[in-house]
Amino acid sequence: MLSFSADCLILQPMTDEIRLKESYTLAKCCSPSPEDKIVGYFSHDNYLKVHRHDCGNLKKAEPARLVALSWDDILEGASFTPGPDYHKLDATDFAVLQHHLDYGIDYSLMVAKALAIPRQDAFERHKRLKDQGLLKRVEPRIVQYRKGIVDNKWIKHRNHTYYDLTEKGKAYLEYHQIHSG
Ligand SMILES: [Zn+2]
Repeated sequence: MLSFSADCLILQPMTDEIRLKESYTLAKCCSPSPEDKIVGYFSHDNYLKVHRHDCGNLKKAEPARLVALSWDDILEGASFTPGPDYHKLDATDFAVLQHHLDYGIDYSLMVAKALAIPRQDAFERHKRLKDQGLLKRVEPRIVQYRKGIVDNKWIKHRNHTYYDLTEKGKAYLEYHQIHSG
């Protein structure tokens, strides 16, 4: 996993922690790693606990709760392949997407400020990323109820065009984080 430092736009490698899709979790008893064969146990709290296939605890489990799993099924982003438009994106585009992942709904001037890029550049990137389906425009009437980053005041602006990350944008960002290390 990688993280952006918004100040200098340097990619910093973080730990190689295993990131699973939502509602999957690694069992603590046997801590499987990607070279292990795995089996899922559907727990009573609606999680699929991922065990090594030879974990002793599975012998006690109700067979009806066991699920065949492979790492490709459960790793976040592992089975996703972006379209050809992925290769049009540069490091600043990913920084913009990352900004929306971190802060949610925002508008071009704020993004320009946060990433220290020219306003016009932020406007154009927002438009282009929206046309690519990586960002979506958000209705101002929703935004006006959001508490602002600035001085902790309620945002009342209606003049700005607000953007937020789409599922496609999240997937592209995730893919970038996995494959650019
Ligand atoms: Zn186990």
